[in-house]
Amino acid sequence: MRILVVEDEPTLSAQLSEALGQAGYLVDSAADGGRAHYLGEVETYDLVVLDLGLPVMDGLTVLKKWRAAGLGMPVLILTARDNWHEKVAGIDAGADDYLTKPFHMEELLARLRALLRRQSAHTSAQWRCGPIMLDTRQARVTVDGQALSLTSHEFKVLAVLMQRAGEVVSRAELNEHIYAQDQDRDSNTIEVFIGRLRKKLPPDTIETVRGLGYRLARTE
Ligand code: CA
Repeated sequence: MRILVVEDEPTLSAQLSEALGQAGYLVDSAADGGRAHYLGEVETYDLVVLDLGLPVMDGLTVLKKWRAAGLGMPVLILTARDNWHEKVAGIDAGADDYLTKPFHMEELLARLRALLRRQSAHTSAQWRCGPIMLDTRQARVTVDGQALSLTSHEFKVLAVLMQRAGEVVSRAELNEHIYAQDQDRDSNTIEVFIGRLRKKLPPDTIETVRGLGYRLARTE
């Protein structure tokens, strides 16, 4: 497994390289966004750990450029504490998970293992709910045959709701499906994703069940 560590603080970067190396990963590191962007484009990585505050080019821009270029490797972003806007921006830009600084190395390793598991656990099912068709293997959604543009987290939220169409799914359950481990989760982020999905899906597709969660209307 080959991993790219993008971190500009020398001490933290060295700690990350050492811990990941001991865990059996092949580690490349970059200390600025320009170098990171270049390495991501020319090398093949199984995972990327990406700090957002970087010299030359910030982490969010690096991530957006990779995703725009069709690079889909799992990316875990490192964010500042108490900044949920930054988390939402990172997730929107295509991050698969985030960790707030400071963090325990064991937690980072657990998150990375979970990302790799999820990456390889794709099933081949196609789910249909009324006009909505979700292809879990291609991570693709269509409504009446028209492709829908969703971020990876919007897709995950919709996938959970579709898998359990007609049932109420709590915000906590949605959180569990989106993030790998227990953490200082922001319930705000689920509301943000639901709000965005509602704008993209036919009206009244996602119902709010007060105090309980959300339900996808089952339409046959
Ligand atoms: Ca930094």
